[in-house]
Amino acid sequence: MAIESVNPLNGKRIKKYPVLKPGQVSRKVKAAQDAFLNWKETGFPERSALFKKAASVLEKKKDALARLMALEMGKPLAQGASEIDKCAWVCKYYSEEARGFLLPEKIATDASKSYVAFEPLGVVLAIMPWNFPFWQVFRFAAPSLMAGNTGLLKHASNVPGCALAIEDIFKEAGFPPGVFQSLLIDSGQAAAVMEDERVKAVTLTGSTQAGKSVASKAGSLLKKTVLELGGSDPYLILEDADLEKAAEICVNGRLVNSGQSCIAAKRFIVVKAVEKRFLELFRNRMMDKKMGDPLQEDTDIGPQAREDLRDQLHEQVLESIVKGARCLLGGKKPEGKGAFYPATILTNVKKGMPAYDEELFGPVAAVITAKDEDDAIKKANDSSFGLGAAVFTKDKKRGEQLAAHRLEAGSCFVNGIVHSDPRLPFGGIKESGYGRELGGFGIREFVNIKTVYVT
Ligand code: NAP
Repeated sequence: MAIESVNPLNGKRIKKYPVLKPGQVSRKVKAAQDAFLNWKETGFPERSALFKKAASVLEKKKDALARLMALEMGKPLAQGASEIDKCAWVCKYYSEEARGFLLPEKIATDASKSYVAFEPLGVVLAIMPWNFPFWQVFRFAAPSLMAGNTGLLKHASNVPGCALAIEDIFKEAGFPPGVFQSLLIDSGQAAAVMEDERVKAVTLTGSTQAGKSVASKAGSLLKKTVLELGGSDPYLILEDADLEKAAEICVNGRLVNSGQSCIAAKRFIVVKAVEKRFLELFRNRMMDKKMGDPLQEDTDIGPQAREDLRDQLHEQVLESIVKGARCLLGGKKPEGKGAFYPATILTNVKKGMPAYDEELFGPVAAVITAKDEDDAIKKANDSSFGLGAAVFTKDKKRGEQLAAHRLEAGSCFVNGIVHSDPRLPFGGIKESGYGRELGGFGIREFVNIKTVYVT
């Protein structure tokens, strides 16, 4: 068995890696457990210094890492460079804030002393996707390791080079052996790692289907999980929106990472009164975006990460059209090499079509018409997902009210693009998963929230 990385620009194999045998996996789990026993005793200053070093290693290697992402999964270079900057940011953020988030909390009771302490759990398995191959891993690793856990990474099978590069970053920064390791294993081998009693918890970022499978396995073992799953974020364009600004943000929201982001804007729910004008602005801006080689500096949309994923997306588009959606832009598979898919707009999207009910993981915008604000909210919430949402209105109070109380999602933005930020909790509800990453909430996911009571 082998894991292969293939360049989605031309279908050429980059490299083949043998998968680890069960004995090798077990040795790595042992190394993670042995490392944990020392790592949990290190103080915050030591861990902080190492994460600061990791941030400088990331900054130093930025160009090479961006190039690696472009080759393995097609991310345009400039977007890869910003991803690495964000990884450095999350390392610095937790190196400064972790201690404060985990300070014991005194609670007055009838005890002479009672408080809550936050203790690391042990070895945490992280199962990660290919779409932000560095960011997804660092947003898990920075808080979890700063809290005193050790980490094992099972990365997506199409980005083994990124998985090994991440392990190298930790090595070069001077982390003790075993604190962070990559396991080159396929998804079938992940269950055995979860079953290992030395592994105490699992975090998965990926599709809802994978989330359900990992959650049931972890549930049968009674192991803690955090699940960051798929999304179909609605962007609501109300009749009083600044349409120029909304169209600009919606295009960027849809095309981020060539459309392959869990929190990309996917459903555009537009109030009828402004639909015609919004579509004009939106279409013009979508047409301006350049698709091409991710290594060219002026490319906005690279190839999709894998040809099978591109084909699956095209099937969803075709089925939506058969069911009555209209194709305003794109919608055709380009001829020739590469897993390319063009910026596409579907209008007249209705319930029962894949573009309405499912996640479209690529540069395809589904436009849904709403009668008014109430209808827009109803349609936005009419989804099995609940990851992010955005609302566009010139009335900030109105927007805030809808964001805070009426939209069913883990993160709701007013007049802005849904994005993650190390300082803010990130995660979903419904089939987008549970638990939170980032901020103070994220670092408390993989700790024992321990009550200490002294009579
Ligand atoms: P995926 O196919 O679910 O894979 C994600 C990871 O899970 C990969 O490492 C995969 O390994 C592994 N995996 C799949 N099935 C598994 C199973 N039954 N047991 C154990 N591991 C399993 O997702 P993807 O195509 O890489 O990523 C796209 C999806 O991720 C989208 O749905 C997107 O919305 C979601 N996502 C969510 C977030 C968030 O924060 N909520 C962020 C990014 C992406 P193999 O590669 O070896 O199959």
